Amino acid sequence: MVPAFWRALGLPGLIDAHVHFMPERLMEAVWEYFAEPGPLIGRDWPVRYRLPEAERVAVLRGLGVRAFTALLYPHRPGMAEGLNRWGLEFAAAVPEAIPTGTLYPEPGVASYVAKTIDAGTAAFKVHLQVGGFDPRAPELDDAWGVLADAGAPVVVHAGSGPVAHGFTGPGPFGDVLARHPRLTAVVAHLGAPEYEGFLDLADRFERVHLDTTMAFTDFFEHEGTFPRALLPRLRDLGERGRILLGTDFPNIPYPYAHQLQVLAGLGFGDAWLREVCWHAAARLFGVPAG
Ligand SMILES: [Zn+2]
Repeated sequence: MVPAFWRALGLPGLIDAHVHFMPERLMEAVWEYFAEPGPLIGRDWPVRYRLPEAERVAVLRGLGVRAFTALLYPHRPGMAEGLNRWGLEFAAAVPEAIPTGTLYPEPGVASYVAKTIDAGTAAFKVHLQVGGFDPRAPELDDAWGVLADAGAPVVVHAGSGPVAHGFTGPGPFGDVLARHPRLTAVVAHLGAPEYEGFLDLADRFERVHLDTTMAFTDFFEHEGTFPRALLPRLRDLGERGRILLGTDFPNIPYPYAHQLQVLAGLGFGDAWLREVCWHAAARLFGVPAG
C-alpha cells in the first residue's frame, strides 16, 4: 500500500523526519522499556518493527522511504558524544540516513555540537521528556546558538505525551525560541498533547516545524484527540511547508501505512500530502529529487 500511496501522489518516495536508529544495545534497552512499560510510557506499547538493524533499513527501503533521520538521544550525561560518532558512522553506511546527532546539558555541549556539525551531522534530536532536563539550562544556551547559526534542524520531543515529565510543554521550549528565534526546530508528535501551544509557536517563529509522528493514529487518538478546531491551522501550516511526515518507526504498534492513511483521511488534498510527505522535508534536509 505504501508505494502505491506515494506513486499516486507523483512523488519519488517518502521522507520521514522521525525515525529512530541507535546503537543496538541502546535500541534493545529502549525496546525492553516499551515491553515492560515504565512510568515514561504508562501504557501497553507493542513495538511492531522490533527487527535487526539491517532488516529495519530494508523495510524502509521497501516502503520507498528515500531519506530518514536516525534519531537517538542520551538519558544521562557523558553519552551524547559517543552517540554523535555512531550517528555519523551509521549514515556513512546507509545512504538514506540523514546524519543525526544529539546533545545533553553538560559541560562542553556547545563545542561537541559544533564539532559534529563540522563532521557532517545534519540534524539533531533532543528528547526533553526522556531526558527530563530543562531546555533553558544555561549549559545549553550556546549549543542552541550553534544550532541556530548552522541552520541544523533539531527534532525536539517537547510535548508532554505520552506522560508529562520534566520540562515539557510549550512554555520552556518557547523560552528557548524567544532567545534563539532563528532556531530550526521540528516539534515531534505535533506537540501532543499541547497541540495549540506548539501551533502558536509555529505561527510566531518561522523556522518552527512540526512532525506528524503518531498524530491521528488509532493508537494516539484515544490518548488526547487533536482538537478539530485546530485543523484549519494544521492545513495552513502544511501548505506553507511547516508540517513534516514523521512516524516513529520502528517503535510503532501498527503498520507504517496507518500513519499515511490517517493523514490522507484528513481530507486536505494531494497538494498538502505532497508537501508533508516530501517537499517540506526535502527543502529542510536538502534531499535531492532524483
Ligand atoms: Zn520518537
